[in-house]
Amino acid sequence: MMRLPRFRYRAPRTVAEAALWLADAPGDTMLLAGGTDLLPNMKRRQQTPKTIIGLRGIEELSRMTSGVGSRESGVGSRIGAGVTLTTLVRDERLRATCPGLWQAAAQVATPHLRSMGTLGGNLCLDTRCTYYDQTHEWRKAIDFCMKKDGEICWVATSSPRCLAVSSSDTAPMLQALDARVRLVSASGERELLVADLYENDGMQYLTRRPDEILTEIVVPDQTGWRSTYWKLRRRGSFDFPVVSVAAAARFDGEGRVLAIRMVAGAVASRPMGAPLAEALLVGEPLTDERIAAAAHAVYAVAKPMDNTDFELVWRKKMVTALATYALKELRGDDMSAMRTRIARQLL
Ligand SMILES: Cc1cc2nc3c(=O)[nH]c(=O)nc-3n(C[C@H](O)[C@H](O)[C@H](O)COP(=O)(O)OP(=O)(O)OC[C@H]3O[C@@H](n4cnc5c(N)ncnc54)[C@H](O)[C@@H]3O)c2cc1C
Ligand code: SF4
Repeated sequence: MMRLPRFRYRAPRTVAEAALWLADAPGDTMLLAGGTDLLPNMKRRQQTPKTIIGLRGIEELSRMTSGVGSRESGVGSRIGAGVTLTTLVRDERLRATCPGLWQAAAQVATPHLRSMGTLGGNLCLDTRCTYYDQTHEWRKAIDFCMKKDGEICWVATSSPRCLAVSSSDTAPMLQALDARVRLVSASGERELLVADLYENDGMQYLTRRPDEILTEIVVPDQTGWRSTYWKLRRRGSFDFPVVSVAAAARFDGEGRVLAIRMVAGAVASRPMGAPLAEALLVGEPLTDERIAAAAHAVYAVAKPMDNTDFELVWRKKMVTALATYALKELRGDDMSAMRTRIARQLL
């Protein structure tokens, strides 16, 4: 049986109290929300904080204001970082007005894990790799790796940086929605785009400072926008993404694209935006030819490595397929049969 290492536990009641404790020793302290990522990592000694600050007693982190599904023009939504994925999945308004975020949240892990797992924890999820997500004994047998306790990267031995994979489902979708996050510390607070929360580095994958708490996610008004999220995983019932594509778009009355954002997930250490694909589509109707060209442009930004499930070349090819399905769904095609095929691995 794998046991947790010893640690000191703090249980603040307010964000201000949590921020003060975090400021004490940010390098040795970690925040615990649902614990579905952090606690297994601690059991495997991938993460070994001396102090844990539990966020579950902070009521303000579980608030959702105006609901993502607000149909009132100009009204966005603020979702507390501690809102569970189950709360999002049960929100029918969210499902109707921001289907992409609903689809992303609904495909995270299992019902039990979604009941514990939070949106903030999902955004800050540790990056993943075949050589890292192993027991301490397994990693010791290969002399560890650069991400924890070792020197080199086993995926690319000459790489100066870790190439572990960003495996969050909601991160690419929130980036495609142009959402922002609020970060609070004892010395102040700031808001930044989800796109700016990430670095393409498997170790330093967040731009969040160690003394900052992600307190809320701000989703812009969804009036006039359509959104969608497509995910490839081994088991349809639950599994981390090995490729995903998130897209959000606004159209004029004639079906021409007014604005669009496309983001590929699980193909690098951060969600990868595809500005070239977006430029190909703006001002144009989503014809099959345009869709094919844009899907190829999303394929071009994907840089998967051989450090997660499935064969690398096939994973990369699936970026084109998922981008095509996402764009067709935004166009209004009925893609439900294809969704079922993907979920059942009938490819
Ligand atoms: C079997 C299994 C399957 C899974 N499948 C998926 C999947 O398909 N897709 C997916 O995306 N995830 C998956 N997960 C990972 C995880 O369950 C989810 O990502 C979940 O949303 C994490 O949220 P949490 O609240 O439990 O995070 P925690 O484990 O509490 O924290 C995760 C990380 O975020 C940090 N953190 C948490 N809250 C904050 C905050 N407010 N501010 C700053 N930092 C914070 C923690 O310090 C930690 O580093 C899976 C996990 C397991 C065990
Ligand atoms: S990508 Fe390399 S350094 Fe990063 S976790 Fe994997 S083996 Fe370790």
